[in-house]
Amino acid sequence: MGRKFFVGGNWKCNGTNDEVKKIVSTLNGVEVPSEDVVEIVVSPPFVFLPLVKSLLRSDFQTAAQNCWVRKGGAFTGEVSAEMLVNLGIPWVILGHSERRLLLNESNEFVGDKVTYALSRGLKVIACVGETLEQRESGSTMAVVSQQTKAIADQVSNWTNVVLAYEPVWAIGTGKVATPAQAQEVHSELRKCLQQNVGGEVAASTRIIYGGSVNGANCKELAAQPDIDGFLVGGASLKPEFVDIIKAAT
Ligand code: PGA
Repeated sequence: MGRKFFVGGNWKCNGTNDEVKKIVSTLNGVEVPSEDVVEIVVSPPFVFLPLVKSLLRSDFQTAAQNCWVRKGGAFTGEVSAEMLVNLGIPWVILGHSERRLLLNESNEFVGDKVTYALSRGLKVIACVGETLEQRESGSTMAVVSQQTKAIADQVSNWTNVVLAYEPVWAIGTGKVATPAQAQEVHSELRKCLQQNVGGEVAASTRIIYGGSVNGANCKELAAQPDIDGFLVGGASLKPEFVDIIKAAT
C-alpha cells in the first residue's frame, strides 16, 4: 500500500485569538485534495487547541506541539498526553529541534516521550535533523540515525508515527534543502528504519521534510521518491499553505 501524503502546519508560538480564528476561517474555505490523497494536520499552541478543534473543518486534524513524558501530576507547566486525548486531539509533534536545542531535550528523552504518547493513543510527528555545524563536519547521517534509533529502540509499531526530517539550518532561514539533499537523508532514514525496526515499517512509514518549505519549492521536493509530505512552519500561517497541501497531487 502506498504512503499517503502528509502535510503538517506547525504554528509554533504564534497567533492571537483573533488571528487564529482568521487562519481557521481561511482554511475552512479552501479547496484541497480529498482525505484519501492527503492527510492534513495543523498544530496551534496549546491554549488555542480547543478553539481550533471546535472551528476547524472535519477533514483537517489537529496536533499539539509537545506533551509531557509520562502521566500528568505534579509537573507545573506541562501538558500531559492524557489531556490531549481527553480533548480529542489526535496528534502531537515531538522532538522538534527548537525543543531539542533550546530546552535541551535529549534523544533518549524524545524517545521516552514518543513511547509514552503512543501508549496513550496519540499519533506522533517525530522530528529529527542536524545543525549546520554537524552537516559541515559530515555527521548528518550519524546524527539523524541516532535520533531515529533512540525512538526505534523503544517503538516497534510505527503505524501511528510520521518521521519528520528537518535540517536545523533550513528551519525559518529561507534556506531550503535541495530536493537531492533531502532525498539523500530520507532514503538513509528509511534504511535506518529497516535496520532497526524492519522492512515493512521502513516501507510504510511516512518520512516528511521540514525547513523553509513554501509554495514555490514544494512541488520539486514532493516529487522525490522518499519525501512523503511536509512539516511547514512559517508558510503554514499564510495562504500559500494551500499550495503546499496541493503538492500532494
Ligand atoms: P519553517 O519551519 O517552515 O518556518 O522553516 C519548519 C518547522 O520548524 O517545522
